[in-house]
Amino acid sequence: MQPAGSIVVVSPHSDDGVLSLGASMARWARAGARVELLTVLALDPASTAPTEGWDRRAGFATEGEAARARREEDHRACVVLGVTPRWLPYGSVDFDRHGDDEEIGEAVRGSVESAGFVLVPGSPLTHPDHAWLSSLVTERLPPELVALYAEQPYTVRGGGMPFARAPAGLRDRLAKWRAIRAYRSQLPLLGMTRDPRRGPLRLALVDERVAWPRQ
Ligand SMILES: [Zn+2]
Repeated sequence: MQPAGSIVVVSPHSDDGVLSLGASMARWARAGARVELLTVLALDPASTAPTEGWDRRAGFATEGEAARARREEDHRACVVLGVTPRWLPYGSVDFDRHGDDEEIGEAVRGSVESAGFVLVPGSPLTHPDHAWLSSLVTERLPPELVALYAEQPYTVRGGGMPFARAPAGLRDRLAKWRAIRAYRSQLPLLGMTRDPRRGPLRLALVDERVAWPRQ
């Protein structure tokens, strides 16, 4: 399917959308669509809460520091792809959520009001934040608006091939390769630096996969 009009990719954390759909986003933007990358758990830039888990391992001392640095990475990736980043200040599983399901669901719904399509994580949904956000969004939007995408690098590492292959040319895959490299703080944690078979170029060459809604 070739979507027309505004397309919103819902990303749980800062990097999921680009890792999963970077080439498609570049392609849609190049075809003239307005494409937005909406990261819901983009953390609170004003928070002084100490990091634990993932963001501690990325080298950040506080939630605010992680929020600011990861938004900057996200911004750089979006410039490469020609898409507009938007961030909601909610916390990942390692932090306070800063809002209940009702509030966050409404914030997402308000952010996608003018969208022609909203792409939501659909498989494998093994990370608790991804599974939670996918349900939260799909429950609140009309089904004809919602497309599901295969989350990367988890899909390829699990050997799965859900949904349908999304077409992408070499130019869009190269844009994705460049965009992935903007997430400098995340690549070591994702195991995407040392082994070329698991690196950014390898992921950029993997087919992206989407289940479009029935029209
Ligand atoms: Zn994630």
